[in-house]
Amino acid sequence: MTPKIARFLADRQPATPCLVLDVDRVEENFRALAAALPLAQIYYAVKANPAAPVLERLVQLDSRFDAASFEEIEFCLAVGARADAISFGNTIKKGSAISAAHAAGVSMFAFDSAEELEKLAVHAPGARVYCRILVENAGADWPLSRKFGTTIETAKDLMIRAGEMGLDPFGLSFHVGSQQTSTASYEAAIGRVGMLFTDLKEAGVNVRMVNLGGGFPVRYSSEVPEIDQFGDAIMTAMTRHFGNALPEMVIEPGRFVVGDAGVVQAEVVLVTRKSKDDPIRWVYLDIGRFGGLAETEGEAIKYRITTPHDGGQTGPVAIAGPTCDGADIMYEKSNYRMPLALACGDRVELLATGAYVTTYASQRFNGFAPLAEYYV
Ligand SMILES: *Cc1c(COP(=O)(O)O)cnc(C)c1O
Repeated sequence: MTPKIARFLADRQPATPCLVLDVDRVEENFRALAAALPLAQIYYAVKANPAAPVLERLVQLDSRFDAASFEEIEFCLAVGARADAISFGNTIKKGSAISAAHAAGVSMFAFDSAEELEKLAVHAPGARVYCRILVENAGADWPLSRKFGTTIETAKDLMIRAGEMGLDPFGLSFHVGSQQTSTASYEAAIGRVGMLFTDLKEAGVNVRMVNLGGGFPVRYSSEVPEIDQFGDAIMTAMTRHFGNALPEMVIEPGRFVVGDAGVVQAEVVLVTRKSKDDPIRWVYLDIGRFGGLAETEGEAIKYRITTPHDGGQTGPVAIAGPTCDGADIMYEKSNYRMPLALACGDRVELLATGAYVTTYASQRFNGFAPLAEYYV
């Protein structure tokens, strides 16, 4: 937790649950990433946290933006981002959204199928397009599965076709999975893209860009490699596969930019045991899976939780949310422990909750209001 967030929570005592996010930390993270990969253009993945104060600070820093929908493009334009600094990175878009983005001046679009490429040719004629290839997501705590990307062979055909359809076959992309804790996954993906890139050049395609996606990790319950280690591994692999003819490099970080800039404060609603001598206490908070902690699905993302009793004796707990839904359990199998002194009414903090929390909150499930947000 940054000093600014601690001061805000102490002075304002906001109603819980709430997210407090330090925008200066967003700037520090952006600068650290730019320093680790100085040759890459940074397109912030807006979906990680689309709040205006975050986007405004990133516009000041000359960030570019990766948008998942036309609505996110509008968020960026509303805070002064230039349309030509926005990439429409979702491979699944309505024709109407492509047309609207194209009319607004967005000129870079992702695709991973022949069907989507045809939509782009119709609704964004002449645009720069890049093809997403399927890569291994091993090592990622929040994998993006097989939903996105295509095979190398199909990507080759589609890039050739893009040119024939009057589009600009600008580049290739991949995403190694979110909260990727292994630098090797980037190296392997760069190797695959490198071979395809060379192949396409030889086939006469004017391909010039490699988009390395996001995935850069945040420290939750376990340590993760430093961002400089990712930078070094990526540059070494790029040089190995492209020599000194490096293509334009793009990265699309989301989680890394905003994750550790935010803290959720929540209240303990109930602490109990299923039977008198059950060693496990059940701790129910006023935030849960439906209040924004969707990434606790499968206990994938393990947030660090601080309490007013830290340092005291602890015991094993299961941690759940406040709704009447059996799926609203955050942690039952991950061996969480909390202080024995923890009691109803205590305020606890879930650290590094700046990414993929506010927008995952349901609207009014069980009547609870969506998560309150403060940007300081
Ligand atoms: C979600 C997403 C990102 C951001 O991923 P992080 O793991 O948050 O860095 C980047 N690019 C695309 C295409 C995405 O879908």
